[in-house]
Amino acid sequence: MENQNQLIDSFGRVHNNLRISVTDRCNIRCFYCMPSEDVQFVHRSKIMSFEEIVRFVRLVVPLGVNKIRLTGGEPLVRKDVPELVKMLAAIPGIKDIGITTNGILLPQYAQQLYDAGLRRINISLDALNAEKFKEITRRDDYEKVREGIKSAHAAGFDPVKINAVSIRNLTEEEIIPFGRLARETGAEIRFIEFMPLDADNQWEREKVLFAHEIQEIISQGIMPLVPEEQHDKNAPATNFVFEDGIGRIGFISSISAPFCMSCNRFRLTADGKLRNCLFSLDETNIRELFHTNAPDEQILEAVRNSIAAKKEGHEINTARFIQPDRPMYSIGG
Ligand code: SAM
Ligand code: SF4
Repeated sequence: MENQNQLIDSFGRVHNNLRISVTDRCNIRCFYCMPSEDVQFVHRSKIMSFEEIVRFVRLVVPLGVNKIRLTGGEPLVRKDVPELVKMLAAIPGIKDIGITTNGILLPQYAQQLYDAGLRRINISLDALNAEKFKEITRRDDYEKVREGIKSAHAAGFDPVKINAVSIRNLTEEEIIPFGRLARETGAEIRFIEFMPLDADNQWEREKVLFAHEIQEIISQGIMPLVPEEQHDKNAPATNFVFEDGIGRIGFISSISAPFCMSCNRFRLTADGKLRNCLFSLDETNIRELFHTNAPDEQILEAVRNSIAAKKEGHEINTARFIQPDRPMYSIGG
């Protein structure tokens, strides 16, 4: 039966997918996300507790939310994330829990996360070369991420997805090695176009390495890619397989082919602010509503109003675009 309470915005998009940032802290410093130093983190006392996160999820499940992804900052630097996964997995109506992680702490946590009920894992890795990794992340942890990927496979995650941000004049040489990795390990590589969410405001359109260019490099250097039938029409990635059927590649073309019109996501930041879009300039303070003992109906009304106010798209490709004050690490990617 159709749920009459679904979170539908004014463009008819149904929102069932909640991304929860569990912390804004991180153990590395990717230049496209965080400043190199003097990072302003939210004080620990202002971070949503696990109980508050669970309370919020329980409230929005009757509105049709059934998919959750934990993110950050680096979600695994927060203590006891497998416990949170267990708490979320126990909520009736939650069908799917995922995590996006830089992978460094996976050797410690992959199995616990799997056992707690997590099934979807995206590991971020932009280079298959330790020096380039260090240039991007300002840290020397390449081998740890590679170990993390192995731990995810060993724990039973299938597929393991790898997110690689693509940046012009920086990551071109990584494309063919990633293509080969997809073929050799079965990991799904997803190339993400660089978005204007960096802390240093250094984003420029010229720095975006576009999906169609990457596709061309792979087709020339390995073999042609053929489009895969899209099972989830709300998925941000457009998926391809190599012509011989071995190896999958996805493209998240946020700049060259925005998927805003099929977006089904909204976000809760680590400090409890609800955002209807990564690029939104407005937020709804859920944590404050909790702390002022607002009744559930008032909180639900605030959620509905936030979704109703969602804009048609992100406007990056227009002169109207304004980069949000919060960089990616502070929103939760
Ligand atoms: N720390 C975790 C990680 O890196 O996977 C989770 C949070 S991170 C903000 C989530 C995703 O956003 C990562 O895949 C990261 O590469 C991506 N990301 C961060 N800043 C970005 C930007 N400016 N443009 C495109 N993707 C970005
Ligand atoms: Fe940390 Fe992820 Fe941002 Fe890199 S992209 S600095 S790993 S939060």
